[in-house]
Amino acid sequence: MNTMNGENEHNEETFYPGPSRSHLAAFPPKERWDDWTELDSQAWPRRKERHYSLVPTTCFNCESACGLLAYIDKVTGEVQKFEGNPEHPGSRGRNCAKGPATLNQIHDPDRILYPLKRSGKRGEGKWEQTTWDSALDDIAARIRKAIVENRRNEIMYHVGRPGEDGFTERILAAWGVDGHNSHTNICSSGSREGYQLWMGLDRPSPDHANAKVILLISAHLESGHYFNPHAQRVIDGKAKGAKLIVFDTRLSHTATHADYWVAPYPGSEGALLLAIANYLIQNSLYNREFVRRWWNWVEFLENSSEFRVSSFEFDHANAEQVSKHRDSDADSQARKGGLAPQRGCPAGDPALPPPTFEQFEDQLKQLYAEYTFEFAAQESGVDARTIEEIAKLIATAGPRFSSHNWRSVSSGVSGGWTVARALFMLNALLGAVATEGGVFPNAWNKFVPKPIYSPPHPQMWNETQWPREYPLSMHEMSFLLPHFLKDGRARLDVYFTRVYNPVWTNPDGFSWIEMLTDPDLVGCYVALTPTWNETSYFADYVLPMGHGSERHDIHSYETHDAQWLGFRQPVKKADRQREGEEIDDTRQVNPGEVWEENEFWMELTWRIDRDGSLGIRQYVESKKYPGTRLSVDEYYEWIFDNSLPGLPDKAASENLTPLEFMRRYGAYEIKNKVGALYEETVPREEMEDINVDARGRVFTRAAKPASPNVVPIPSPNGDDDGRRLVGVQVDGEIKRGFPTPSGRLEFYSSTLAEWGWSEYAIPSYIKSHVHPDNLAADETILISTFRLPVQIHTRSANAKWLDEIAHTNPLWLHTSHAAKLGVRTADLLRVETEIGYFVVRAWVTEGIRPGIVACSHHMGRWKLSEQGQRQLMATVKLDHEGTEWRLKREKGAEPYESSDPDTLRIWWSDVGVHQNMTFPVHPDPISGMHCWHQAVRVTRAKDGDNVGDVFVDTQKSREVYKKWLAMTRPADQYSPDGTRRPYWMLRPLKPAREFYKLPEEKTQQPVGVE
Ligand code: SF4
Repeated sequence: MNTMNGENEHNEETFYPGPSRSHLAAFPPKERWDDWTELDSQAWPRRKERHYSLVPTTCFNCESACGLLAYIDKVTGEVQKFEGNPEHPGSRGRNCAKGPATLNQIHDPDRILYPLKRSGKRGEGKWEQTTWDSALDDIAARIRKAIVENRRNEIMYHVGRPGEDGFTERILAAWGVDGHNSHTNICSSGSREGYQLWMGLDRPSPDHANAKVILLISAHLESGHYFNPHAQRVIDGKAKGAKLIVFDTRLSHTATHADYWVAPYPGSEGALLLAIANYLIQNSLYNREFVRRWWNWVEFLENSSEFRVSSFEFDHANAEQVSKHRDSDADSQARKGGLAPQRGCPAGDPALPPPTFEQFEDQLKQLYAEYTFEFAAQESGVDARTIEEIAKLIATAGPRFSSHNWRSVSSGVSGGWTVARALFMLNALLGAVATEGGVFPNAWNKFVPKPIYSPPHPQMWNETQWPREYPLSMHEMSFLLPHFLKDGRARLDVYFTRVYNPVWTNPDGFSWIEMLTDPDLVGCYVALTPTWNETSYFADYVLPMGHGSERHDIHSYETHDAQWLGFRQPVKKADRQREGEEIDDTRQVNPGEVWEENEFWMELTWRIDRDGSLGIRQYVESKKYPGTRLSVDEYYEWIFDNSLPGLPDKAASENLTPLEFMRRYGAYEIKNKVGALYEETVPREEMEDINVDARGRVFTRAAKPASPNVVPIPSPNGDDDGRRLVGVQVDGEIKRGFPTPSGRLEFYSSTLAEWGWSEYAIPSYIKSHVHPDNLAADETILISTFRLPVQIHTRSANAKWLDEIAHTNPLWLHTSHAAKLGVRTADLLRVETEIGYFVVRAWVTEGIRPGIVACSHHMGRWKLSEQGQRQLMATVKLDHEGTEWRLKREKGAEPYESSDPDTLRIWWSDVGVHQNMTFPVHPDPISGMHCWHQAVRVTRAKDGDNVGDVFVDTQKSREVYKKWLAMTRPADQYSPDGTRRPYWMLRPLKPAREFYKLPEEKTQQPVGVE
């Protein structure tokens, strides 16, 4: 390596060492990215040179936003391949299979190239090509009318993978619309809730590379959150000797790399974690100093009388019994503002001695004593000695304990959020919080640069997305939308989906079809998408959007302890700009009339308010050329010039402007090693007329210092005199602390206690909706959410390389289970859910817990006609009689002629089964997360069953919806202060405080509650 490196140094070129770190370079030196030469592999054995421009962008095939480098042929001007971008701090030049497959997506012969307008009935499959002008004018006029008529709550934007940091939220804010709907409650709200209740911020940022012990409750090495950036750091950690523990009911790729793989009964993970916590507590193996300084134990003691860890007995058959908690003494106490104070520990009563840490330690020991290894073994089916071994191993990690849970169980079961809470409790016990090798709050490892305009947040509250039944939900109750509209709670005039396919992705897809085909419920549906998807068939407009190399976005993710910004860009535009061409619209370089969303949103906003009379146009107006629309170049130029510390100087050192620098390298690291911000001493300038309360919270009158980083942070309440919370007093010093109501890590959540859920105010275990107590004798659990490493939701169906590797989703079942059913691999099975069934092939394996079944995500894609991804979508017949819906496969995948000769080589026909349609909605009453695990009956297929068959009765979907809704504790019955939701909690487009107030009248009784 030294020789090679020496040569590079001699040439003043950058050397990127390859994985062997012995000789070969892994990437072309960046100094040669304007003209990189390679031999044409297809011309071999001739030595034909090809010259490339190497232009960075970021992958858009999952949220990680890894860096890509487009190799643009200097002769044809076309992208020849994508490889990793070594200048990207998150991915460091590496990608998973989906990154390079971006090439397939841009050359996909089935992609949508022109704006389309429905010409028949919705869902009939008749389309006519329209112009962008005509579509924009029509949609803009509808939105303007709704705004002028004060029907702002009829405008909704529903996004799956945003892939950007706040651009579209600001567009909605400019319109004054509280209409941001996301997919988060079918994705990660469970984990987010658990993390936010502890540390204020809702995601972990683990430092796997420096950990001594890593505990994962997700399949990080194949599909987890921040998949490639985290996977490579897990492997880095292992290479340095870290031990890897994986909890996964299924033998995932991650599990195959583990030192300890345990396959617990689904939903029992919380019991395992609390047993480990109990071991640390009973044996005093926790970091006493950290717990004493940073847990809100004083607040706990003040509220701890008669307190005990309680289990949520989820009554699957009789939801009303669950609601009995509403009238419990504990709750009526909680509604009054907390549990009864413990004798000797009253809040701020100077007459009594202050609570001591030793008192807390005594209580902690008592509270968790019931979580023995034997209890955990009984719940999980994992051997007690194995749990003990794992606990002992974790105890050795100290502050170098990294852990992560994102989807997996926390998105699978009711009370899944308590798993993330129990997991982070281990970090909080070990003091492995914002340490090298520990876990950081995500926002500390994230940088969202201040944009050119920041419109005020909307002056309204959208009850359709933030209904009062779910005051603590982490995100919008998006997957209940069809039910809310059917309830008559609202109608939509203009509904957008973007990177989102709810008919396929969400549970209860037939209810979505019923909603979208009813013009009384949805006036105009606009699908923004690069490819056909199951939802777009029911749209009024299908508008073609660019892939990762055809659009702009910026983003920053918590991949490790650093802050970086990635820049997604249309690579052909950047290439032609390098050559001196003027390109002011991505449609000039994209295929057909494919556009990018940022330009689309700006143009739409401009047309909504052409004359500026609504006060909207100003947010998309050029500062350089007043009276004209902002361009994306000016938008990003402003951000890179003004909001990225150090970038202008760094760019200048290479004789580049900041925008040129980002176009050339695609990423910028703002800071490496952010460290423990909670320990930062609050500077003197921020202390003005301070007030320190009885719990050590420090409030100031000093304004919050302006920051170029506008990453969303929770906003805990100030004091009664209008000061803001600035920090906490710890051992006489004023520290920055955590963005929680107490300023500390919240072992005790006053939020849960005050909003009617006092029984879960400290980390607890909840017996889930699929706990054995709640299953009938012939039911088992279906795990339906696991991903395959090479596919991503429904977005990668147009990548032929990926489709060839993974194109079907048989039902995993254990050998012993298969023997009982008398089935073998490839036999047909019928899987019955609460509302219907699907028919799937069996895959018999030892790689799953006996008795549990699993079916992967991504597959079972379908189309109603030839429009769609022919490589991975079956052609189906969709039928219904009343509320009974049937989907029947008419044709699987097969070879076909297209502009790509490879489509004639398709050798597979089975594309799997669409299982999500047969799942009813299961909204967790606290986090709002859809609980994906299903109680199912698995039998051999019946006569007449065919692979891919789906049957559902949407009347039954309604019944299940009402049953789960009845478990909620709505704000208008439980709010401690007359508000809809705790103001401090994170929320996209957070309205001003006055809009948090509940209306006087109780406008909406929860359905199903007498
Ligand atoms: S992990 Fe894979 S799919 Fe996700 S951004 Fe990185 S390369 Fe793309």
